[in-house]
Amino acid sequence: MAVSTLTHNLGFPRIGGQRELKWALESYWRGDIDRSELEHRGRQLRAHHWRLQAEAGLDLIPVGDFSWYDQVLDVTAMLGAIPQRFGWPGGTVDLDLYFQLARGQAAGRQSVAACAMTKWFDTNYHYLVPELEPGQRLRLSSTRLLDETAEALALGLAVKPVLVGPLTWLWLARAAEDDGEARLALLPAVVEIYGQLLGRLAALGVRWVQLDEPALVTDLPAPWLDALTAAYRRLSASGPDILLATYFGRLGDHLDRVCALPVAGVHLDGIRGEEALEAAAARLPAGRVLSAGVIDGRNVWRTDLDRTLDLVRRLRARCRGDLWLAPSCSLLHVPVDLNLDDRVPDQVRPWLAFATQKLEELAILKAALAEEDGGASVREALAASRAALAERRVSPRVHRPEVAARVAALTPEDERRALGGSARAALQRARFGLPRFPTTTIGSFPQTPEVRRTRRRWRAGELTDAEYREFLRAEIAAAIREQEALGLDVLVHGEAERNDMVEYFGEQLEGFVFSGNGWVQSYGSRCVKPPIIVGDVARPRPMTVDWIRYAQSLTDRPVKGMLTGPVTLLNWSFVRDDQPRALTCLQLALAIRDEVRDLEAAGTGIIQIDEAALREGLPLRRAEQADYLDWAVRAFRLAAAGVADDTQIHTHMCYSDFNDIIAAVADMDADVTTIESARSDGRLLDAFRAFDFPRALGPGVYDIHSPNLPEPAELLDRLRQARRRIPAERLWVNPDCGLKTRTWDEVRPALAAMVAAARALRAAAD
Ligand code: GLN
Ligand code: ZN
Repeated sequence: MAVSTLTHNLGFPRIGGQRELKWALESYWRGDIDRSELEHRGRQLRAHHWRLQAEAGLDLIPVGDFSWYDQVLDVTAMLGAIPQRFGWPGGTVDLDLYFQLARGQAAGRQSVAACAMTKWFDTNYHYLVPELEPGQRLRLSSTRLLDETAEALALGLAVKPVLVGPLTWLWLARAAEDDGEARLALLPAVVEIYGQLLGRLAALGVRWVQLDEPALVTDLPAPWLDALTAAYRRLSASGPDILLATYFGRLGDHLDRVCALPVAGVHLDGIRGEEALEAAAARLPAGRVLSAGVIDGRNVWRTDLDRTLDLVRRLRARCRGDLWLAPSCSLLHVPVDLNLDDRVPDQVRPWLAFATQKLEELAILKAALAEEDGGASVREALAASRAALAERRVSPRVHRPEVAARVAALTPEDERRALGGSARAALQRARFGLPRFPTTTIGSFPQTPEVRRTRRRWRAGELTDAEYREFLRAEIAAAIREQEALGLDVLVHGEAERNDMVEYFGEQLEGFVFSGNGWVQSYGSRCVKPPIIVGDVARPRPMTVDWIRYAQSLTDRPVKGMLTGPVTLLNWSFVRDDQPRALTCLQLALAIRDEVRDLEAAGTGIIQIDEAALREGLPLRRAEQADYLDWAVRAFRLAAAGVADDTQIHTHMCYSDFNDIIAAVADMDADVTTIESARSDGRLLDAFRAFDFPRALGPGVYDIHSPNLPEPAELLDRLRQARRRIPAERLWVNPDCGLKTRTWDEVRPALAAMVAAARALRAAAD
């Protein structure tokens, strides 16, 4: 059957190849540029990205993937769902109000609490959580998408407006005392406004609109699924053809329902569910578009084009409507352009594809399909792809037999400490002689401008290694003095030598490579540059031992060794796609295990293994979570269990969302677990008590993210609350995360108050 094939993109990174959007936003927030200059820079960036995609040969170019802060907030503004505390009089949501929603303050306006921010599904991108109020009224309150569509049409481009769909927006929203029902009741009102917007897009001459519904790959309750059909029937009647886009996972048991929706096309993530593409091709009614997400939008690897071409040919034979080709999800989650990078090693470069390269891959796929044997240039491109993949498959940079052999030789004993938790606790009490409610911190102390400047100068070659080392030693010595003066019980060296908790270790491990410019938006103007795990991981030499040993030489109190755990190293990196994540995680665990043992051998009695990102690797579907927790916990235990029973293992996790993983946290078998809890008013601790958490716990007693100093009385009150729920011999006292983003002027009084509160609690308990 003659189906036509076209290529499109779900979204392009908005931040810019040189992070132009970041610089523009931050200049505007500082007041260095005015609104019209900001708007001008945004227009330039959009036009640049559209042209780039047109030149890459895409048939349809996304509009609306640009955002001044976040695409979920864009919909919130469009719907006029502005919480009352912002004092919005109605009308249109202007840019300053928009920034106020995101950041809590804006030029000329009073400061109010920003909307909460949280992770977008299982990515490291953060969206602003919509807030719904009782009697919430909604009205079309922003024409941004219409304006940008007109802007793109004026450039003569074939565009497809994209926006987060109504079901997903509502699913992610929060309402007071909500069981989901209250929110769902708002769906018709939300859909009504989408309908108005779609009608106006049609009036501009738009043929296709993409509505993103990633909520459909999660376990949605039945009433939400049931509400889909009516919602999409209404939307489909409003003018443009609708492409319903799902991504980040399989539709699973939602597949039939989605295929039957009254929409003109459906997009599926073929990277996380290849079989579903074939099923959907067969199931979609005749004439419906299947958009196949066949290029990985979540990772940086070059596509196996031969394999993908086979898949696409099979799909084409089955489809009863047009077949579109696209990345699996928006390219928001990968860096912009490999050609703008000068740090990736030459040998690895041909194995990778960033957003721009992924568009080239799409163009090759389309060209290869058009002529059966492909033109000469297509044959060449396919050959180049084949050669790169073949080299990667056998490269000694990727495959190290000794690492594979070590993983294969692991036994259950390697994951187990000799004694159980309470016997260990007794040994450790005797060894360290700490007071009740011991005080400690999470690891980092302020990264002052001087620390950052000195590191930059060292990297630029302006400081010798020896000079940099002396500087860091002085920082460590100062941190130890500060902590002794404050009266903390378990000290840390302060992490002055670390730029980032993953990068610092990745740079010392074999198997990692780094890009110089591979930025990915995390939230607003904030970007991260994830390391890339290309090969089997090994630790050639100790990474932290000298620093900790030096810190310990300055004091009689115990100094904690400080490491990033295997699961966090994995979850904050781009991970190789040629072996299971679980296996890569075990390799990381072995590297950290070696470091733990070297620290212990150097006399470090307390070692913290941070797992800040353990929770965010949790699969979206409940059915897949147990398997993940199983190997993640195994990796942590493997990293930690190689020590004697009187060595105390700590772990730290910076979130408070524990209810569904508490058993897994207990299974990690750390002697002490420090967590965030300052903002969760005792409920979290109730969960730990209800579970009867068997090990020591340090619920963070103050929120380090806030510049406000904790009141001593408030701290004592929090401690008393914790004391009521955690047995006295298991309660630790600490802030809820590292202090690197704060200043010493904030840290000193806060820690002094914390130590005083711990002492007051001790006095009361004696
Ligand atoms: N040890 C790290 C620090 O104190 C932990 C950071 C984190 O949990 N994100 O900075
Ligand atoms: Zn933390």
